Amino acid sequence: MAPAQNPISSQHVAVIGAGAAGLVTARELRREGHTVVVFEREKQVGGLWIYSPKAESDPLSLDPTRSIVHSSVYESLRTNLPRECMGFTDFPFVPRFDDESRDSRRYPSHMEVLAYLQDFAREFNLEEMVRFETEVVRVEPVKGKWKVRSKTSGDISEDEIFDAVVVCNGHYTEPNIAHIPGIKLWPGKQIHSHNYRVPDPFESEVVVVIGNFASGADISRDIAKVAKEVHIASRASERDTYVKPPGPRNNLWVHSEIDTANEDGSIVFKNGKVIHADSIVYCTGYKYYFPFLDTNGYMSIDENRVEHLYKHVFPPALAPTLSFVGLPAMGIQFVMFEIQSKWVAAVLSGRFTLPSQDKMMEDITTTYATLDALGIPKRYTHKLGKVQCEYLNWIAEECDCPLVEHWRNQEIVRGYQRLVSHPETYRDEWDDDDLKEEAYRDFATKKLISFHPSYFLESSI
Ligand code: FAD
Repeated sequence: MAPAQNPISSQHVAVIGAGAAGLVTARELRREGHTVVVFEREKQVGGLWIYSPKAESDPLSLDPTRSIVHSSVYESLRTNLPRECMGFTDFPFVPRFDDESRDSRRYPSHMEVLAYLQDFAREFNLEEMVRFETEVVRVEPVKGKWKVRSKTSGDISEDEIFDAVVVCNGHYTEPNIAHIPGIKLWPGKQIHSHNYRVPDPFESEVVVVIGNFASGADISRDIAKVAKEVHIASRASERDTYVKPPGPRNNLWVHSEIDTANEDGSIVFKNGKVIHADSIVYCTGYKYYFPFLDTNGYMSIDENRVEHLYKHVFPPALAPTLSFVGLPAMGIQFVMFEIQSKWVAAVLSGRFTLPSQDKMMEDITTTYATLDALGIPKRYTHKLGKVQCEYLNWIAEECDCPLVEHWRNQEIVRGYQRLVSHPETYRDEWDDDDLKEEAYRDFATKKLISFHPSYFLESSI
């Protein structure tokens, strides 16, 4: 798209959330000349990566009066991507050998990601824009601007007017619970992965884990260390699936989906196997949730599709002053936040313009029709899978910023192949040193690291 002819204007922008998305959005908005207030209900930056041993009082998070614990991180969590492809493009997530408390592994623990985000906030002085322990409770359009109501921990509310709002509140806090026929009478314990922290409560139990992607694969193996048996119910598996996955555990099985749960404690799988289980752990994903947002009915969420959003970022009738950074579920999360926020910042300043409202709606209608025609359910609208790089490069071209690097795209592709084929070992054994080398050489060429690439490549991480 051609740059706009308008003079560049500075807007007063509210950003909701100081996780990875909110932090980079604040940085890009300020770089573009906007004034920014970031609202963050926690005491520190980092969002999802702030591990808390405390979980919510209701293990399924269904009780509307429960107090919310934002993070879904469990104690043993390590990243599911190599660190070099996870970081922001101009602040690589490289090992910090200078600090013994840091985790230098290629797939480090959740604590290392939090430390990286804290480093990022410090490097770019982002905390000075953040109002901590301040929750946004209402956002509504008022005479072409946005009224933002926030509440501090001391329960003091304040209304403020902003030119624009960028929503970066994360989408891994509101659990999606799979429905199982008969579950109401099933007598065992049930928990969603959002509230899973450590395996100890499952010692000597027979446990069913529903879901076999990143969290399901991890949590089932974590629990198998102490449980008697772990049975994974996998929707992606054929109906007659009943296998022991390769790996050191002799007490782990993968089945097809659950057929029914019964009052006598039994669980029947679609493959015909019947087991008596003590607990069910739902690793069945999360729902988009914006409890503070009132758009006069313009926006809605239908089967986990956030409607209507142009390129998952702008609601046409409210664009560009309302936008969302971080909605699509894809591998390169941090870089996606960076590219989307550069676009938002540039459109708000008037450096680039969006198509007309009608054209954006037309694009959305075509996208939904294409998904329909391919038989892709609504709930997968924001799952970009194989087209993630194409999507990011489209936005990058739209706002004239660098395209996703070859090595980064390939690390995601090969990393996910390993995750699926070797869920037990993919974080410690890999076959893409060529890409890792390309990444560190790229960082060196761009002067983003202060050591020769060999400093990182010759270590055994
Ligand atoms: P969050 O990090 O969730 O931040 C949102 C922030 O908004 C929070 O700080 C929250 O307190 C604040 N907030 C929410 N509502 C309000 C409100 N009303 N008022 C004020 N503040 C509010 N991605 C990777 O790249 N690599 C990985 O290895 C990886 N592993 C993951 C493992 C798990 C178990 C999960 C659930 C996700 C994982 N992800 C991973 C994806 C991860 O969610 C993103 O990487 C990223 O950290 C999300 O950032 P965010 O800023 O969008 O959301």
